[in-house]
Amino acid sequence: MRKKFLFTPGPTPLPPEVQEALSRPIIHHRTTDYQEIFAEVNEGLKYIFQTENPVFTFASSGTGVMEAAVVNLTREGEKALAIVGGKFGERWKEILEAFGRECVSLDVEWGSAPRVEEVEKILDKNPDVEVVFATLCETSTGTKTDIKSLAELCNKKGKILVVDAISGLVAMELRTDEWGVDVVVAGSQKGIMLPPGLAFLSINEKAWKKIENNDIKAYYFDLKKTKKAYEKTDTPFTPAVGLIVALRESLRMIKEEGLENIWKKFSLISFAVREAVKTLGLEIFSRYPAEAVTAVKVPQGIDGIELYKAMKEKIGVQVAGGQAHLKGKIIRIAHMGYMDYTDAILAISALETALSILGYSVEFGKGVGKVMEIFLKEGVFQ
Ligand SMILES: *Cc1c(COP(=O)(O)O)cnc(C)c1O
Repeated sequence: MRKKFLFTPGPTPLPPEVQEALSRPIIHHRTTDYQEIFAEVNEGLKYIFQTENPVFTFASSGTGVMEAAVVNLTREGEKALAIVGGKFGERWKEILEAFGRECVSLDVEWGSAPRVEEVEKILDKNPDVEVVFATLCETSTGTKTDIKSLAELCNKKGKILVVDAISGLVAMELRTDEWGVDVVVAGSQKGIMLPPGLAFLSINEKAWKKIENNDIKAYYFDLKKTKKAYEKTDTPFTPAVGLIVALRESLRMIKEEGLENIWKKFSLISFAVREAVKTLGLEIFSRYPAEAVTAVKVPQGIDGIELYKAMKEKIGVQVAGGQAHLKGKIIRIAHMGYMDYTDAILAISALETALSILGYSVEFGKGVGKVMEIFLKEGVFQ
């Protein structure tokens, strides 16, 4: 059996501190012990979301809070804009349509990012759009959206901006309050170093005003009910106690390392990985690469599924393949959560080895050498 290393953009590896917390006996949630943990966690979430506003936690996968954002912030029949440049942008559109909203979409070529001028044009053409749905890191293509500029535009136009930061949060720069982002959603199993099962939503006053006037057809995800409970440091339903206890540990670790240091770390790791990939003669799929995940084009003559399999089964390094029409065409290497500089060296060495196994000619150590050269030059190992 091979020792296994996980490089998928969710779930991500768990630090020992989190694993230990997950193994503790369960406690009851209506106790002062739990309330103390819950209060600390709520403060820690504000830090990682870079907001002074409340961050609500639900027991669900990330998609749950995407649904919560749609059903609370928009009314049936209301027109909303979704930016679609990959599988997760598509999800905004699908949720809007599933709930009878009229979705205007800005379709961006996969691997490309939306331009603010294009968004502005659509908003001018559709003045009745009140809410814009975007994605910080489009995980399916490894692409970053310029959320800062998008937020500037939305504020200028008086629109509400909702950002799916499920894969980007913690790994990539996101300054919710400073940039004026109204709603941010995230999940536990990516940058936050927890198992899947928790989802988070932050919301500011401006977005809240719209909710107050909406007749919300939701029950579990009714944000008005959630907010009321939070005012008493409580939740309307049983929280995922075990995961919340573990979340306290991961938030402490993030705080200790410092969010800006983590952004810098993944920025450098992703840069080194991209440079190494290019050194091997391969191409990066995205034109606006995200720091949280790198999508690598599988070279001509190599089957992407075989490449993925060789890395996982022969070497023990599990990356992600492509989704939808990118299946077999790309592999995706995550840089988020409990990952470090040394992991980048491992990922690239596994890629070199697997390519060689499949008959692609590589000069051994060329990619790894590039990674090490960049890290040494940047003073990482000092
Ligand atoms: C993973 C991911 C999701 C979906 O999260 P689930 O927890 O699988 O529901 C949504 N958006 C983005 C950008 C993601 O990376």
